[in-house]
Amino acid sequence: MSFSNFNFKGFKALVRVDFNVPIKKGVITDDTRMTAALPTIKKILADGGSVVLMSHWGRPLKDIEKKPELTLADFSLKPVAAHLATLLGQEVIFADDCISEDAAQKAAALQPGQVLLLENLRYYKQEEKGDAEFAKKLASYGDVYVNDAFGTAHRAHASTAVIADNFAAGKKMFGLLMEGEVSAAEKVMHNSQKPFVAIIGGAKVSDKILIIENLLEKATDIIIGGGMAYTFFKAMGGQIGKSLCEDDRLQMASDLLEKAKAKGVCIHLPGDSIIADNFSNEANTSSALSNEIPEGWMGLDISGMAVDQFSKVVGAAKTILWNGPMGVFEMDKFQHGTKSIALAVAAATKNGAFSLVGGGDSVAAVNKFKLGDQVSYVSTGGGAMLEYFEGKSLPGIAAIKG
Ligand code: AMP
Repeated sequence: MSFSNFNFKGFKALVRVDFNVPIKKGVITDDTRMTAALPTIKKILADGGSVVLMSHWGRPLKDIEKKPELTLADFSLKPVAAHLATLLGQEVIFADDCISEDAAQKAAALQPGQVLLLENLRYYKQEEKGDAEFAKKLASYGDVYVNDAFGTAHRAHASTAVIADNFAAGKKMFGLLMEGEVSAAEKVMHNSQKPFVAIIGGAKVSDKILIIENLLEKATDIIIGGGMAYTFFKAMGGQIGKSLCEDDRLQMASDLLEKAKAKGVCIHLPGDSIIADNFSNEANTSSALSNEIPEGWMGLDISGMAVDQFSKVVGAAKTILWNGPMGVFEMDKFQHGTKSIALAVAAATKNGAFSLVGGGDSVAAVNKFKLGDQVSYVSTGGGAMLEYFEGKSLPGIAAIKG
């Protein structure tokens, strides 16, 4: 069942959201995840339905175990309820516990147009364990289940996956945010127009190996930048100075290059690098071929030749997937390469390519360069999107799609 086609009039929708927002001293410092869920909530209310919201926040049980001075109250969603009331411009009823009698009564008494937020699901270990009884109790609060928490779709938790078993096929669906994430991800990984260019960067090959292997089956070109590129250069016999390198992954890097060749996938490594004598924004810098980095120097960004090389490949793309920065973009001295590639992705998008930026730091990068609205889709689901790119089935998706 599609969320947009469902008329929620008279229905109580149990909506799993990701309100795991940063809170400092009771103040929400970034409400992106909350505003992202508003269209889903508003549509249900506008139809004449009511909304029971549930979310996790932080890792209360694990953190309290490490720091006994903390209490569950330090992990409360109460500040989120107050902020949501401001965003929605209406009262948000709050239940102090997600499976108490109070929660059940408040859910039962909910009238069309009203919103109830349950306390942090992770007060209970049953949530992360995917406990069926816990899920059943939560399920009893609503007659339709809506999952709008793509960020936790890779977890088989009670509220994200197991709960769906309690609802008939026509009564469980993705919310608008999750629908957007899933359709962007599917478009890239299962329905891409060629050339399909994947840009993979970041620190470690070991973190990205599964993604690259999966992309060998799908992409036309794979651009490899960031710290992980130097393991490939060393594997090919290059001199990389003191650049980041995973010596235990050299064989793996060679094997990947071989596999790509056998499959006809073009791997692009950065021809040159901005090198530094220190991992610091104050370091002395120069430029060098990426396989001829002098002793005592490290590659911290891609340089001019690589920018031209990568931009050309990106410019010809019809589908672009970007995960991971091209250099240490957090430091101004080493942000140029990542910014240039972000601009190339934006230009290709303007020319009709579909571009998806997903997974952690590349999202931070496009936002830093204020280019988020010039790419086709920026994913909010870091870990979940990474697992999707790795070709894994996500429990939160499977629970609804079957
Ligand atoms: P990841 O989380 O694996 O995508 O890695 C992102 C991190 O990799 C960012 O914090 C970057 O600063 C870092 N990074 C990118 N390029 C390099 C590099 N050449 N050397 C060291 N760190 C890098």
